[in-house]
Amino acid sequence: MSTKLLPAAALLAAAAVPAAAADLELPAAERTFGNGLKVIVLEDRSIPNVAMYVWWRVGARNERTGITGLAHYFEHMMFMGGAKYGARFDALMEAAGGSNNAYTSHDVTVYQDWVPASALPLVLDMERDRMSGMVFDPAKVKSERDVVTNEYLLGIKDPRERLAVQMRAAAYTAHPYQWDVIGWYEDIRSWTQSDLEEFYGTNYAPNNATVVIVGAVDPEETFRRAEAAFGGIPRKPDRRPVGSAEPEQKGERRVVVEAPDARTPQVLAAWHIGSTSDPDFPVHEVIEDLLLEGRASRLHRVLVEDEQLCLDVSGGWQGHQFDPSLFTVELTLRDGVAPEKAEARVHEEIARLVREGPGERELRRVQNRIRAEFVRRLETIDGKAALLGETETFFGGWRNVSLRVERVGAVTAEDVKRVAARTFRAQNRTVATLVVAGAGAAAPADGGAAPEKKEAAPREESK
Ligand SMILES: [Zn+2]
Repeated sequence: MSTKLLPAAALLAAAAVPAAAADLELPAAERTFGNGLKVIVLEDRSIPNVAMYVWWRVGARNERTGITGLAHYFEHMMFMGGAKYGARFDALMEAAGGSNNAYTSHDVTVYQDWVPASALPLVLDMERDRMSGMVFDPAKVKSERDVVTNEYLLGIKDPRERLAVQMRAAAYTAHPYQWDVIGWYEDIRSWTQSDLEEFYGTNYAPNNATVVIVGAVDPEETFRRAEAAFGGIPRKPDRRPVGSAEPEQKGERRVVVEAPDARTPQVLAAWHIGSTSDPDFPVHEVIEDLLLEGRASRLHRVLVEDEQLCLDVSGGWQGHQFDPSLFTVELTLRDGVAPEKAEARVHEEIARLVREGPGERELRRVQNRIRAEFVRRLETIDGKAALLGETETFFGGWRNVSLRVERVGAVTAEDVKRVAARTFRAQNRTVATLVVAGAGAAAPADGGAAPEKKEAAPREESK
C-alpha cells in the first residue's frame, strides 16, 4: 500500500469504529428526587419524538417459591390497573400518536413509551398513575391470570423452552434464577390477592426505578415536569436483599428431556459465570463473540459449516444480571447426529481456546464488532434510551457507556485464556439434552426451526 492511501484507510477505519471512546459519551443529565427516583434526560432533536423508558429493578429474582412468575404478571397488570387511566392505557397512547411495550427479565421490568414530544406530559401522567396506585380489580386479576396461563402453555409447547426450563432448574439449586421468568404453572394459577398487593407494595417503589427520557425535549423543563409527576410518590422501605446465594457447583450435572414432539435433538450446556458487575464480564462478551457470534465464530464454523453437525449454534452470556449468571452453548443438531458427538466437539473447541487463546486479528475483529454494535445502538433515540438505562442499571451509572467499550477493547488473549479456563470446567457445567423420544415420538421431516439467540431472553410482549 502506498503511503498516499494511508490517510484514507485510516479515515475508513475511523468511520467503521470510533477511534476515541469519547465518541460514545452521551451528554445526558440526571436528577434524583427526594423519594429516590432517578430521572435521566438526553436532549436529542434528530426527530420530534421522545423515547421514555421506565426501568424497574423488579424481576423474577425478587420472587420466591409459591409466587414465581409474579414479576412478569405485573408487567401485564401495569397496563390494566392505574387508578386514573385503568385499561385505557394503550388506547390513549395510540390516540396521542404513540406506542408502547414492555419486557420482564430475571432482574428488571422495563416499560417503553415512544411518543411525539408534545405527548410527553400525558405519558408522564400515565406512568405516574401506574407507579403510584394500582387497583387490583378481581375481574382484571382473573382475566390477566388467564392471559399469562395461556402464555405459559404456548411457551412450553416449544420443546426447546422445556429444555431451557429444566437446564435452569438443574444449574441453580438455591438462587431464584432457577425458575423461568414466566414462573411455574401451579404458582400462576394460585397467586392470591394479598400476594399481588404485597409484591406491588414492596417492589414498585420510586426508589426501585429509573426513568430515562431521550428526545426533542428541554432537559430543565423535563426535570420540572417529571418532578411534578413523580416527586410526590412516597418512597418505600428498602427491600431485603435477594437471599440464597448460589453455592459453587461441585460436579457436572446432566439433564435429559424426552420430547415426542421435538423436531430434532438439542444440546444446551451452561456454565456458571459472575454477574454483570464482575470485572471479567467484558471477557465473557469477547468469548461469546469468539465462539458464537456470526459465521466466522469458532463454534459456528466448526459445527455448522465445516463438519455439518448442527443446523445452528447459539447462546452466550445470559443477559445483564445482578447476581452470578450463566454462559450457554445451545446446539440444534442435524438429523441423525448423535448429541454426544456434537457436544464433544464443543468441549474440544473450547479446550483449544483455553490452550491457545484467540489470535490477535481474531481478537481485534470481535472487539471491533462489539464496539460497532454500541455505535449502531446510538443511532436512534430508542437505542440511546435503552443504552442509558441499561448502563445506569447494570454498569454503575449511565456515564459508563464509553467505559464499557474501553473495557471490551482492553481484553487480552491472556484474559480470554484465564477466564475460559476458570469457566469451562466440567465441574462447573450443566448439560441438558433434548431427545426425540417418548410416547408417539416421530420426527417430522421438515427439519428444525432456528432457535432464539438466547434461551433466557426476557419475555417481550408484542402488541
Ligand atoms: Zn407476557
